[in-house]
Amino acid sequence: MEQQLKQLEQEALAKIEVASNLKELNEVRVAYLGKKGPITDLLKGMGKLSPEERPKMGALVNTVRENVTEKLEQKVAQLEELAIQEQLEKEAIDVTLPGRPVRIGNRHPLTRVVEEIEDLFIAMGYEVAEGPEVEKDYFNFEALNLPKGHPARDMQDTFYITEETLLRTHTSPVQARTMLEKNGEPFRIICPGKVFRRDNDDATHSHQFMQIEGLVVGENIRMSDLKGTLNTMAKKMFGEEREIRLRPSFFPFTEPSVEMDISCFKCGGSGCNVCKHTGWIEILGAGMVHPNVLEMGGYDPKKYSGFAFGMGVERIAMLKYGVEDIRHFYTNDNRFVSQFHRTEG
Ligand SMILES: [Zn+2]
Repeated sequence: MEQQLKQLEQEALAKIEVASNLKELNEVRVAYLGKKGPITDLLKGMGKLSPEERPKMGALVNTVRENVTEKLEQKVAQLEELAIQEQLEKEAIDVTLPGRPVRIGNRHPLTRVVEEIEDLFIAMGYEVAEGPEVEKDYFNFEALNLPKGHPARDMQDTFYITEETLLRTHTSPVQARTMLEKNGEPFRIICPGKVFRRDNDDATHSHQFMQIEGLVVGENIRMSDLKGTLNTMAKKMFGEEREIRLRPSFFPFTEPSVEMDISCFKCGGSGCNVCKHTGWIEILGAGMVHPNVLEMGGYDPKKYSGFAFGMGVERIAMLKYGVEDIRHFYTNDNRFVSQFHRTEG
């Protein structure tokens, strides 16, 4: 009988071991531990045993039942754990998937040119000054020696908000504002910004563009100071071999006024399509600050003098990077802007 029990126990444990789901386990439970199972049968047969053997067998039957029950419970727990694992794996989010690349922008070529010029002039002791794009007629024209009805106003027609308020046509009103702000003290400023003209857009014209200009006011500021400053800038922006040339010109706010050309950086002066076969490229306008402008800004023209220069940022960028159409700067096309990645110094 003892042997029978041992054998039943082995069988039950083996079947539990190979069971692969809860249903099979339940079948094993019913088959071995149920009221009609062989272990129960054995218990019923205990009456035939001698009184000495009975407790021994009773204990043995209990041990077998306990062993089988324990094994069953372990297996149930194991299968349940497995089921949870499977479900978790099925529902899991794979966080190791690589993310989608974010397209990183690029500094706009106009920003690049402005920053390059700013850096150069900051190194020479200039401050960066800015002013409003919606400007008073007074600061845009009158304070710069362009009274109402002055014929030079025709070259700078703009968008009017009211009779006295307009979109500035140049960055020069910042000059007038700064002079009032500095209250008679000498200063050096560089002012970048957007300006506007009533112009029809084409490959070289835009109703909105950028200028950057400089102004120095102090005692004993001379034309030679202007020339030296422009020479330094031309070499820095377009290469050490560049030469500059000043030609007489007219601006209402400077006297005398000049246009500055640089020797062609493409052909070196022998003539090509960039310099229109002249060997020179026009870059900017400049001059000595007109005494009327100094006076309106609160500076005594007998004691103070100054120079100013201004250039179109688009023109510089077009020359520097070989851009053929000014409108490319405003189309917001990343294919255009991303081309300037590798030119980053
Ligand atoms: Zn050339």
